[in-house]
Order: sequence, then C-alpha cells, then structure tokens
Amino acid sequence: MSRVKHAGSRILLVEDNETIRNAFSLLLEESGYEILQAATGRLALDSAVADQPHLVLLDLGLPDMSGLDVVRTLAADPRTSNIPVVALTGRALKTDEDACRAAGCVGYLTKPINTHHLLQEIPRYLADIEE
Ligand code: MN
Repeated sequence: MSRVKHAGSRILLVEDNETIRNAFSLLLEESGYEILQAATGRLALDSAVADQPHLVLLDLGLPDMSGLDVVRTLAADPRTSNIPVVALTGRALKTDEDACRAAGCVGYLTKPINTHHLLQEIPRYLADIEE
C-alpha cells in the first residue's frame, strides 16, 4: 500500500470494539500513520493529554462515558482543544450529527465505515492543523 501525505502523523483511535479497533489500526498503520489505541473514554482523555495526537477518531458509543462528553472534555482543556476530533458512529440522523458538531467534532463518519472513504478523509483533517 502506498504511503500517504502526512505519513507518521499520530492518530488516536478510540473504539471499544476490539475487532474494529484492530482492523482500523492495521489499515491506518499500513497507510503510514502512527496509531494510538484507547478502548474507553477515560483512556482516550489520558492519551490525548499525554501523547498529543494529531487527530482523534472517536467512536461515540463507549462503555464508560458518552462520546460527546469525551469531545466536550477535549475541547474544554487547553492541552487538547486544538486536536481535531472525527466521530465514528452508527447513529446517522442529522440531529445526531448536529449534536456532535456542536460538541466540537470537526467531522462525522457513519458506521459501517467505508475504509476507502476514511483514508480519503483523514488527510483533510491533518492538513487543517499542519498547514
Ligand atoms: Mn462502541
């Protein structure tokens, strides 16, 4: 697989489903990204502060807290407020997307995630912060 623009960028992948998390991690690593993984909201918040990822891909359905609360917490903390968050969710209603964007997400992808589309979208969000 060819390497992409922004190869080496750190992406924090937050997803409680281990099968999905592993599959996306492999896909993104093969594309040249460095992947950090978190299975809960709490671990995601800790990693965002400690590891300063360039992008967070956030499943909104997490076991310990609402994904929207994760987004709000990241947005309210000056240590993480500049990190773009793209939501991954099975909820496809316009009102869900609006709530997500109001909480601070810069992007919104509906499950099942089209991996080709995901790989197309990621550089857009990385470009926003690096250029
Ligand atoms: Mn989930």
